[in-house]
Amino acid sequence: MDSLNELINAFSSLPAIGKKSATRLAYFILKSDRAIAEKLAHDLLLVKDTIKKCSICGTYTEADVCHICSSINREKVICVVEQSQDVEMIESTGEYMGYFHVLGGVLSPLNGIGPKELKLDRLVDRVKNENIIEVIIATNPTLEGDTTALYISKLMESYGTKVSRIASGMPVGGDMEYIDKQTLSRSLKGRTAL
Ligand SMILES: [Zn+2]
Repeated sequence: MDSLNELINAFSSLPAIGKKSATRLAYFILKSDRAIAEKLAHDLLLVKDTIKKCSICGTYTEADVCHICSSINREKVICVVEQSQDVEMIESTGEYMGYFHVLGGVLSPLNGIGPKELKLDRLVDRVKNENIIEVIIATNPTLEGDTTALYISKLMESYGTKVSRIASGMPVGGDMEYIDKQTLSRSLKGRTAL
């Protein structure tokens, strides 16, 4: 059954879907109503056709400029994140009232991703032209995320803009007994006054 194998291969090319899950999904489609397959095919193409990247911050949006960049009431702060999903996560906390900048990745010389690929000049332009008072770097606490944060902070040095990095450390409700040494070490370094 070539077409079924094609579908299994297509599903297994998705992130976090292994061969077993892909096979289960393909058989589910096979035995369910045609309407489900039609809706799925339609929705897949719809997001590709209607959603694009915001021309200012790079997050996904249905408009040319996203609703956050369109807002004039936000603080003159830019939070730099790796991907569009991070914007939604930070927005959902209700703790942040500034703008965003989505890098679409992190610096990774081994994979050929340098400052040019991340379009860091666009971030610099925004900081210069939008009177930004602070850049908060919220890349992931990985080696590449840290390298990217450091690179951006160096880039901002000549503009006199305050640069900060989000704190990382113990999870809320966590137990010190189960925290790895690196996380604990970061928690100590990033401590705040009470
Ligand atoms: Zn935007």
